[in-house]
Amino acid sequence: MADASGFLKIKRKDAGNRLVNERIRDHSEVEQVLNSEDRMLQASRCMDCGIPFCHWGCPVDNLIPEWNDLLYRGEWKEAYQRLASTNNFPEFTGRICPAPCEHACVLNIGLEPVTIRENEVAIAEKAFAEGYVKPAPPTKRTGKTVAVIGSGPSGMAAADLLNKSGHSVTLFEKDDKAGGLLRYGIPDFKLSKSVIDRRLDLMVAEGVIIKTGVGIGKEVSGKEIMESFDAVCIAIGAGKPRPLKVEGSEFNGIHFAMDFLKAQNKVNSGLLSANENLISAEGKKVLVIGGGDTGSDCVGTSIRQRALSVTQIEILPKPPVLRKEDNPWPYWGKILKTSTSHEEGCERQWSLSTRRYIGDGNITKGVEVEEVSWELSGGKYIMKPVPGTSRIIEADLVLLALGFEHPVLEGLITELGLELDNRNNIKVSRGMETSLQKVFATGDSVSGATLVVNAIASGRKVAKEIDRFLKIS
Ligand SMILES: Cc1cc2nc3c(=O)[nH]c(=O)nc-3n(C[C@H](O)[C@H](O)[C@H](O)COP(=O)(O)OP(=O)(O)OC[C@H]3O[C@@H](n4cnc5c(N)ncnc54)[C@H](O)[C@@H]3O)c2cc1C
Ligand code: SF4
Repeated sequence: MADASGFLKIKRKDAGNRLVNERIRDHSEVEQVLNSEDRMLQASRCMDCGIPFCHWGCPVDNLIPEWNDLLYRGEWKEAYQRLASTNNFPEFTGRICPAPCEHACVLNIGLEPVTIRENEVAIAEKAFAEGYVKPAPPTKRTGKTVAVIGSGPSGMAAADLLNKSGHSVTLFEKDDKAGGLLRYGIPDFKLSKSVIDRRLDLMVAEGVIIKTGVGIGKEVSGKEIMESFDAVCIAIGAGKPRPLKVEGSEFNGIHFAMDFLKAQNKVNSGLLSANENLISAEGKKVLVIGGGDTGSDCVGTSIRQRALSVTQIEILPKPPVLRKEDNPWPYWGKILKTSTSHEEGCERQWSLSTRRYIGDGNITKGVEVEEVSWELSGGKYIMKPVPGTSRIIEADLVLLALGFEHPVLEGLITELGLELDNRNNIKVSRGMETSLQKVFATGDSVSGATLVVNAIASGRKVAKEIDRFLKIS
C-alpha cells in the first residue's frame, strides 16, 4: 500500500490547465503537469483497497494500486513496467481517457478520487524522459505474417502485441499519417500529435511496417491482402457519421464535425495551410449540434479559430451535478461534464430538438429548435415536443456532432462480404473472428464508436486471439 493514511493527510490536487486567455491563442495541450514531488504525494492517497474497484472500472485492467504504490515510493521505472504490462499506450489514455477508474475509486464516495489518470501520464512521460522506453524488437521471428488494416488505437495495439509475439506485422492506413482518430479527430489541444509520432517511431524501430495512403478495398483489394498474409485484422473504426435529416440540409455552412476537426489537425501539422482550411469558424456564429465529446472538441476548435460566438445544443436533458440514486458508486457517474473547451466560452443548451435549418438563398442563417421533455414509460424514456417552445438560434456555421452510425460499409466490408450485426458493425465470434476464416476484427468497427481505452483493450484481445490462431494454423 502507498501510505495507509495518505488520503487523510493529502487532498486531491489536479495539475490544472493553462489559463484560458493564453491557451485559446494556440492549439497546444491545455493540461499542465505537476512536479514529481506533488505527483508522488498524490499517489500516496491510494489506499490499495481490498477490492480495487478502480481496476474493475479500467477497461485495460490497469494494476492501479500497484503502480500507485511504486510511484509513491519513487520507483518510476518499475511503475512504468507495471503500467506497460496492461496498457500499450498509457501516454494516450493518461491524457484523454475519461477515467472510469476514478468514478469507481473508493475515495470518489467522498468526491475526491485519486488522480489516477494524471498519475498514469506522469509515469509514462517520466519513462520516456528518463529513457526507460527503448525499442525492444522480438528476439525470434515466427515466420508468420499479419496485415492490420486501420491504424487507430485498436489497430496500433494489435500490431504492437503481434509484433512483440514475433509475427511480421504490416499496418495499413488509408490516410496520409497513422493514428486514426487520435491523429485526425481528437484536437491537438487534448493530445499533441508528437506523442503519437513518438510511439509510432518506437513501433517501427521494433519491426512493425507502416504503410500509409493505402486504403484496403480501394488502392489494394481485400482479396489481395487475404492472399498475401497468414492472418488479417480489420481495425477500420466506425467512420460513418450520423446525419441530421431535416429541411434545409442542403444549405451551405452545415458540416460534419469530423471534417471540421480533421482540417484543423492538418493545418496544425503543416499538411494544409490555414487559408486552405475550407471550413473556418472565424468571425462566425457557430452552432454545434450534439452535446458529447466530439461536440466539445468542435467548441474548443471554433474558439481557437476566433468564432464570434459558440452555442452547443443537446437533445437529452441537462445531467445532474451529483449522481442520482439510480446511478450509485462505483458505476460510471452520469453527471454534468464541463470540458476545458466549455470553460473557454460557450453557451450550452439542453432538451432541444432541431426542426429545420433556416437559410437565406442557399446560405445557412440559423436553426429552428423546439424544447422536448423526456418521460419514463414502461422502463424507457420517451421524448415529447413541448408545444409553443420553438425558436430560432442564429448560426452561419453548423457543426454536426451526433455520433457515428457504424463502420464505412462501402469498400473493404462490401468487397469481402463480411457479415454484420444488427447495428451494421462487423460481426465477430467470441474469438473475434469475422465470418471469413483468418480475418479478425477489432475496435470501433466491432463495438461501434466508443473510447480510446476500449479500442486498446479490444486490440489487445484480438492480438491474443490471432496469436493463438497462428500457433495452431
Ligand atoms: C472528435 C473525437 C474526439 C474523441 N475524443 C476522445 C477522447 O477524448 N477520449 C477517448 O477515450 N475517446 C475519444 N474519442 C473516441 C476514440 O477516438 C475512438 O473510440 C477510437 O479512436 C477508436 O479506435 P479504432 O482504432 O477502433 O478506430 P479509429 O481511431 O477510427 O481508426 C480507424 C483507422 O482505420 C483507417 N481506415 C478505415 N478504413 C480503412 C481502409 N479500408 N484501409 C486502410 N485504413 C482504413 C482510418 O483512416 C483510421 O485511421 C473521440 C472520437 C472523436 C471522433
Ligand atoms: S486507462 Fe483510463 S480507466 Fe484505465 S487507469 Fe488509465 S485513466 Fe483509468
